[in-house]
Formats: sequence, structure tokens, C-alpha cells
Amino acid sequence: MTLSVAKAIYLILAIGWYIIRIPHERRSRRTPVSRSARGTKEIVLLSISLSGLGILPFIYVATGFPRFAKYPFQPSLAWAGAVAAAAALLLFYLTHRALGRNWSVSLDLRENHKLITSGIYTYVRHPMYSAFWLWAIAQALLLPNWIAGPAGLIGFGTLYFFRVSEEEKLMCEAFGSEYRDYMSQTGRIIPRLSNPHQPR
Ligand code: SAH
Repeated sequence: MTLSVAKAIYLILAIGWYIIRIPHERRSRRTPVSRSARGTKEIVLLSISLSGLGILPFIYVATGFPRFAKYPFQPSLAWAGAVAAAAALLLFYLTHRALGRNWSVSLDLRENHKLITSGIYTYVRHPMYSAFWLWAIAQALLLPNWIAGPAGLIGFGTLYFFRVSEEEKLMCEAFGSEYRDYMSQTGRIIPRLSNPHQPR
């Protein structure tokens, strides 16, 4: 493993994620929204997350900026990053497949929105956020730069901590006891060891 390979793996992760997402972006434009909790706060959070997971690391990969923050490349860390990147892509694929037309980039409920509790959603309520955490971990391990590396953890972490309870509130309002039961049987981003959820 060399630094160039580690940078290439980061790019493959970003491009792979985009390829998985494209059909869902297209479909989401055609699927009417019945209720939305989008607002200025969501736009700010999405921008912070995009900067940390995408813009800053991309500038580093393309130019080496910011050079003052670089540290020596360690192949073993980058190998661990490659494993995290592969796991993130697999999880992105499974979450998009399970959510289907119910997916949104922000906090929206679609017309005839269905609560998905099957597939990867059997184990955790927010597996797409688990995938983004894995991306952020992969980025930190792959890029030997004190700014571009951890930027994903800070950027996505900000979105996650400000959004996840809002999202659960929206889901509780829309699905009531069905979502509350589902919450009591699943972990947020890491599967529970006991009392696993039974998909219907
Ligand atoms: N938080 C989820 C989904 C992220 S996409 C995850 O990490 O996997 C965000 C959209 O998904 C929101 O608009 C929300 O309405 C919708 N959503 C979240 N959980 C859902 C579920 N279990 N079933 C259907 N839609 C869900």
C-alpha cells in the first residue's frame, strides 16, 4: 500500500457511493414529498457534512493542501481504511436497496411513505448513517493529514448529532407506535445483541 493507492481508494469510495446513489436521486425527484422537516438548519448541516466528507479530502487528494498538516503515511492504517471503505460501500448499497423510493437526502416523508424494517433495517434504524460513519473512519485512516483525514468525522458527526433525533421525531409522528416498537428493538447505528427485531 502506498499513499497514491490510499488516495485512489478514497476516490473509489466517493465515486462508488455516487454511482449507488444516482438512480435514487433521479427517482426522488419524481416521487412527491408529502411532509418535510427540511429548513435552513438542514441545509447548513448538509453543507458541513459535504465539506468534511467530500470537499476538504478531495482538495487534499488533488493538491496535497493543507501541507502543514501532513504526517507520515502508515500502510497498516491505510489497509484498515480500505476495509472500512469496502464495508461502507456494501452498507450504502444495502441501505439504498432497502429504502427504495422512501429515500431522501434530507428529512422528508414521501407520498405513501412506507416504514422499512426489513433487510439491513432489521438490525439498525440508521444503517445509512452507519455507512457514513464507516466512510469518515476510512477517510481518517486513508489520508495522512490532520485536517483532511478527520474532517469527515467532524463534518458527518455534526450532521448526525443534530439530525438523528429530529429524524426519529418525524418518524414517530408519522408512524406512531409502529416506529416506537421498532426503536425499542433496534440499535441506532450498531446492532443490538439482545432482543433482535423480527422483520414482518
Ligand atoms: N436514517 C436512515 C435513512 C436516511 S435517508 C438511515 O440512516 O438508514 C433519510 C430519509 O429516510 C428521511 O427522509 C426519513 O424519512 C427516511 N427514513 C428513515 N428511516 C426510515 C425507515 N426505517 N423507513 C422508511 N423511511 C425511513
